[in-house]
Amino acid sequence: MSLTDLTLAEARDKLAAKEIRSAELTEAYIGAIEATRSLNAYILPTPDKAREMAKASDAKLETGKGGPLEGVPLGIKDLFCTEGVRTTACSKILGEFIPPYESTVTRNLWDAGAVCLGKLNLDEFAMGSSNETSAFGPVMNPWGSDNQRLTPGGSSGGSSAAVAAHLCVAATGTDTGGSIRQPAALTGTVGLKPTYGRCSRWGIVAFASSLDQAGPITRTVRDAAIMLTHMASVDDKDSTSVDVPVEDYEAALERGVKGKKIGIPKEYSVDPMPEALAAFWKQGEEWLRDAGAEIVHVSLPHTKYALAAYYIVAPAEASSNLARYDGVRYGARVPGDDIIDMYEATRAAGFGDEVKRRIMIGTYVLSAGYYDAYYLRAQKVRTLIKRDFENVFAQGVDALLTPTTPGPAFELGGKQDPVEMYLNDIFTVPVNMAGLPGISVPAGLANGLPLGLQLIGKPFDEAGLMSIARTLEEAAGSFAPPAR
Ligand code: GLN
Repeated sequence: MSLTDLTLAEARDKLAAKEIRSAELTEAYIGAIEATRSLNAYILPTPDKAREMAKASDAKLETGKGGPLEGVPLGIKDLFCTEGVRTTACSKILGEFIPPYESTVTRNLWDAGAVCLGKLNLDEFAMGSSNETSAFGPVMNPWGSDNQRLTPGGSSGGSSAAVAAHLCVAATGTDTGGSIRQPAALTGTVGLKPTYGRCSRWGIVAFASSLDQAGPITRTVRDAAIMLTHMASVDDKDSTSVDVPVEDYEAALERGVKGKKIGIPKEYSVDPMPEALAAFWKQGEEWLRDAGAEIVHVSLPHTKYALAAYYIVAPAEASSNLARYDGVRYGARVPGDDIIDMYEATRAAGFGDEVKRRIMIGTYVLSAGYYDAYYLRAQKVRTLIKRDFENVFAQGVDALLTPTTPGPAFELGGKQDPVEMYLNDIFTVPVNMAGLPGISVPAGLANGLPLGLQLIGKPFDEAGLMSIARTLEEAAGSFAPPAR
């Protein structure tokens, strides 16, 4: 077994017990990252910084003064601002932007002792489901091969591929409509999207502010629990972060599922429903029942409108958030004859096609005359979606079990129609619309490729959600991609 095969929990314990040193663990990852450049998971490895941080961690561990994640090497989605380290959101418009500040989430992780291995690829501004909109090119799913080039999902495709291929112990991701859970499902990893407000959004490049939330992608549920404990915080720099105590989510894993009521929402199905997906969903239900949960069938009637409403709300907020990239204050600038000409040239050259599409849709739905017909209506639908969830939770349901995605990893270049791409988020967007926590857990392999099951929980019940997720994980087992 190689050092890079250790889970986060194992690495942490061995570091604390001084059985291994952070310097050697970090070096093993630096080597693994170098050897797999063709996956394109990291757009900026930071080996020097990693070595420096590992050395400092070893010194602390030596004196017994290490933090709870002391010496643990992590990968960071390049949407999190990292002080002094280039942050691009995988967009040309941010150019060589080097933030003068650190995002709260990454600050929390470094304060806990973690080591930064580098910045991970993503869809441009986190807009996409396949990592193909990245200005740095797509990421290869380690479950694919040179003959079968598969997506690792998106937008956190660098994070999911890196975790699956053991190029970091764990990674950060962000989820606006599914960008943590969908890539986790497509790579056989665990992806947790916390309740809106659980983690601070400060210092994360904004996509759709009322939906964006940071969370971990890990190899196990236990690792997700550990990561969340050290990512989450209330933060006076983000007024939407919530002052609910951060629990020891790892300790809470022991709660189990006995006596829990799990809802199966009938609307979470597609036509045609892939056989393997339906089978895993049924299997998940049985695993939970066998472990002592009560299964109930429920209805969330407004689910069918969620995707349409999301693709109004998210672009609307994006068009407003992206107005700041004007070539004046930071990022790339293309000169023009006058200021308007400069704005136009900068934005035309700096944004990719998908981002431009979102800006156009967003500006349209917010424009006078269309605001009521689209944006306001979508917000009303959003309230109805949220109420559906509140109703089932009021009936005593503790969590809902659904598939994470409508299918396994698809071939790069395989979905050219934007709407076809958007349909990938059909099971994940309702969770963001309602602000709830959701987790994707590997359910098994179909034709050699991983599929995930999603659990959706009550607001701020990440602890309960993860203890149920662990039951699924124990029943399903874990899945590593074939060696390349
Ligand atoms: N795929 C969805 C979109 O493109 C969700 C992206 C995300 O969660 N960041 O909007």
